[in-house]
Amino acid sequence: MSKVLNAFLTENLKELREQGLYNEINPLEGPNGAEITIGGKQLINLSSNNYLGLATDESLKELAKDAIDKYGVGAGAVRTINGTLDLHVLLEEKLAQFKGTEAAISFQSGFNCNMAAISAVMNKKDAILSDELNHASIIDGCRLSGAKVIRVNHQDMDDLRAKAKEATESGLYEKVMYITDGVFSMDGNIANLPDVVKIAKEFDLITYVDDAHGSGVTGKGKGTVKHFGLEKEIDFQMGTLSKAIGVVGGYVAGTQELIDWLKVRSRPFLFSTAVTPGDVAATIGALQIIMDSTELHDKLWENGDYLKAGLQKLGFDIGASETPITPCIIGEEKLSQQFSKRLMEEGVYAKAIVFPTVAKGKGRVRNMPTASHTKEMLDEALSVYEKVGKELGIIS
Ligand SMILES: *Cc1c(COP(=O)(O)O)cnc(C)c1O
Repeated sequence: MSKVLNAFLTENLKELREQGLYNEINPLEGPNGAEITIGGKQLINLSSNNYLGLATDESLKELAKDAIDKYGVGAGAVRTINGTLDLHVLLEEKLAQFKGTEAAISFQSGFNCNMAAISAVMNKKDAILSDELNHASIIDGCRLSGAKVIRVNHQDMDDLRAKAKEATESGLYEKVMYITDGVFSMDGNIANLPDVVKIAKEFDLITYVDDAHGSGVTGKGKGTVKHFGLEKEIDFQMGTLSKAIGVVGGYVAGTQELIDWLKVRSRPFLFSTAVTPGDVAATIGALQIIMDSTELHDKLWENGDYLKAGLQKLGFDIGASETPITPCIIGEEKLSQQFSKRLMEEGVYAKAIVFPTVAKGKGRVRNMPTASHTKEMLDEALSVYEKVGKELGIIS
């Protein structure tokens, strides 16, 4: 092994561990449902993105198995050679229907969708206004595009307006985009899209909403853009198929022309193998379930509201959450991790989230209730929170 690499790794790993910033991974010994098994121990799971319980849905498992029987386990090629199965076409039609747009394109993941779509349209002659709390895949996607990235204070519409004015009036850029999460994943707050659209109209900004945590959750399941009725106004409705939808993949929904362009200019669409038939079939089924009924969505919100009210009553700081994503903001990184560890010992799995995922000093334990949790599980979780919170002096 290279001595330089060895020294680099040893030194940096030691430093991370000392600062309490090294993330330990706990493998699950079964499905990622409302309860999970880790190290032979059953735990109440408050850490998945499986909002609607669809990742473990029996009917979707059957659809995946049937598709594997019919098509095999792999798509065999990239989309543009001959990896596009009729299932991929059907998925994209469903996505357009789901998002209320002319067309849609699907990708292998939400992360690679942001890598693909931003740089297919934006380049070094352009500028991107980006909310400071945007997801890592947005940050990397913007960087990859080569456009000038201008950070906008979190959800600060005055700051957005001022920076949009400056960027467009400077004459330095051909195109200017504003990009934002629809629901912010670490705090659970919803982007102010009505004001974004007003500002975008004034300065002819391209609008890009990454609704990874909104789809299935907000807008009666159809997402944050739908929640505000802005399907005709937002240029890129981007999302993931890996969270509430329960399977894997990413997509952009928009006009036919936008999608036509992305199909010839998105590098992961051109150079990375298409999503497997089983995954695509299960995803189509999941979208159908969400479009047919709000039952799972309603249960998710009922559980989210219940957990939130309980945590607040105990005295935890749940920040600005407006969705089922419920952080308990603790601050100090080591204390956040210690809290999470003690919760786990007491039977609740709620992962600590610390720098660099959130800012330094904003460590937290993030709770993700789902439609699959029972009231009994949530009550049990709350009583563990009370016990551990008092033990560690986080609540009194
Ligand atoms: C999770 C997430 C992604 C990545 O989606 P994957 O399908 O898991 O790759 C992208 N953007 C946001 C805002 C996310 O929360």
